Amino acid sequence: MRDRRTIIIKDLKLRRIRDGLRNVFLAAIRVEWKKKFDELKNVKRYGDGRRKSLSSMNSAEVANFRSLQKELAKLEKIAERSICSCVSCGRGDRDMVYNKSYDSWYCTECYNGHRLYAKELFQTIGKTKPQGHEEEVIHELYESFLDFEEAHEIELGLVKEGVLIYLLRFHHYLGSSPYATLSEIQGVLCRSREIIVHVLNSLERNGLIDLLPSANDIKARLKKHGVEEANNALIKSKRFMGVNNAFPEDLEDFHLLLDLRSDKLEYDNPELIETLIRELKSDKTPPEEIRRKVEELKVNLGF
Ligand SMILES: [Zn+2]
Repeated sequence: MRDRRTIIIKDLKLRRIRDGLRNVFLAAIRVEWKKKFDELKNVKRYGDGRRKSLSSMNSAEVANFRSLQKELAKLEKIAERSICSCVSCGRGDRDMVYNKSYDSWYCTECYNGHRLYAKELFQTIGKTKPQGHEEEVIHELYESFLDFEEAHEIELGLVKEGVLIYLLRFHHYLGSSPYATLSEIQGVLCRSREIIVHVLNSLERNGLIDLLPSANDIKARLKKHGVEEANNALIKSKRFMGVNNAFPEDLEDFHLLLDLRSDKLEYDNPELIETLIRELKSDKTPPEEIRRKVEELKVNLGF
């Protein structure tokens, strides 16, 4: 788990003590908050109780007003972000998990709920690319409940195969050794640089490729073991395709191969098929139509 800390207390008596301490802490914050809030109310009124507008305050009063507002916000943030209550559901009587990216504590129930949703969200190939800024922010939040490998499990598998096959079939020559650059691979696979770099590093760690840094780019070269692995990936990918040995001969073939692999991987993951079925159901697709679509997919994939 990425920067995750979980604090679980099983003993009932200790749980009660913990919950009691959390309540004391939150109560202390509430008392402090109320004090500041009353001060703020006083600043906003004349002695006779009439409301005082911001424009009729003198500069010292305005400064005081702003600083009280800030202190109130700070206290709210402390209470919200503290281990005393879940930032998502607000409950304070549960075990808590810390999410470092958002400097917040979640109860284990909310955390696990977010994790499950995040797994479903990120493991749906081609449907996970955020559309627009708002979705990007939401995806970032959900991503923080998974580690990188978990968030991109299927994508990483696909990119790994793609990189290996690309290096096998579409390399250039550096002296006598075949290579391709990071930006080339990125352009062909249409994936983020982060994912490609992650895959290249893991392939290097596993002794399948060499990485040679060059100006503003990285060159990748298959090692002997990598050539074997790339051939295996290619055989696996072509298994149901009935194509000749030379396939893929050009980039168009290569893209077709990757698209089919992507569909196959998605199909292989039963959770994703369930997701597809759920989506069709929520669109009020009749059951026989759903069955037909699933069967059609199986036939297309050679099952
Ligand atoms: Zn919660």
